[in-house]
Amino acid sequence: MRIAADQYVLDMSSKHPAVAEVASGSKVTFETKDCFSNTIVNPDHLFSSVGWDKINPATGPLKVTGAEPGDVLKVEILDIRVAEQGVMTTAPGFGALGDEMEREVTKVIKIEGDEAVFNDRIRLPLAPMIGVIGTAPAGDAIPTGTPGEHGGNMDCKRIVKGSILYLPVAVSGAMLAMGDLHAIMGDGEIVVCGVEIAGEVDVRVSVLKNPVLPTPFLIEGGSLMTIASAKTLDEAAVVATRKMHRFLRERLKIENHEAGMLLSAVGDLRICQIVDPLMTARMEFPQKIAELYSFKLD
Ligand code: CA
Ligand code: CA
Repeated sequence: MRIAADQYVLDMSSKHPAVAEVASGSKVTFETKDCFSNTIVNPDHLFSSVGWDKINPATGPLKVTGAEPGDVLKVEILDIRVAEQGVMTTAPGFGALGDEMEREVTKVIKIEGDEAVFNDRIRLPLAPMIGVIGTAPAGDAIPTGTPGEHGGNMDCKRIVKGSILYLPVAVSGAMLAMGDLHAIMGDGEIVVCGVEIAGEVDVRVSVLKNPVLPTPFLIEGGSLMTIASAKTLDEAAVVATRKMHRFLRERLKIENHEAGMLLSAVGDLRICQIVDPLMTARMEFPQKIAELYSFKLD
């Protein structure tokens, strides 16, 4: 199953009809446009020339048969392939350095092999990741530019090839959509972009029936991660931490205070991004320690 990039949404909503439907356990390829709908391709194209109706298209939504509210959708990221050229932009007033950005600048970044050519001096190793990935919420539509409990624009750089993302199912069929790939991005996403790029993502989607798992939940590179988004980074940090604490208590059956101390000893609280309509933080916990408590992946 392959979903073309021109089948996209600009918000995550139960109202969008599915563009495709698959059984649990199926492999699906999502073709994705970049976050500017591929409209910025040379340095003369500025961010302000892109209409808001072209920002953050997310390919989908995909319906997964049998997914019902209360379930969890397991999304294994099997591969991420990026296009031959990415782009970065700055604009006054946008991002953590918005007041320092005097004008709009566009930088086109060629991809050569497994490197991004940032400038004459620097070639950056590719680390392709998914910026926007989520399910449809039960209530009001959520723009694809906003992160939340449904996932969405989390801009978490650990959502890479080989990772496993667990998202909530709030509506029948889950209705998965994704886009906004980055060839590479640092924690924070300081000027509101990674190396923005079109591409393709292979995933396997599976429905889990009512597991104890605070979503969005991510496994990658030996870490278990809880992710949270809120108006402030402080709040997002606390919510991400509480989610992991809940996971340790309810899933691993670690006593409350013991779990708090364990998080304080080995939990790493990190920033995903500080530039979207809500801020996103993640709490990372070593998978090896969870396995000492008989944690096994579903
Ligand atoms: Ca993003
Ligand atoms: Ca982006």
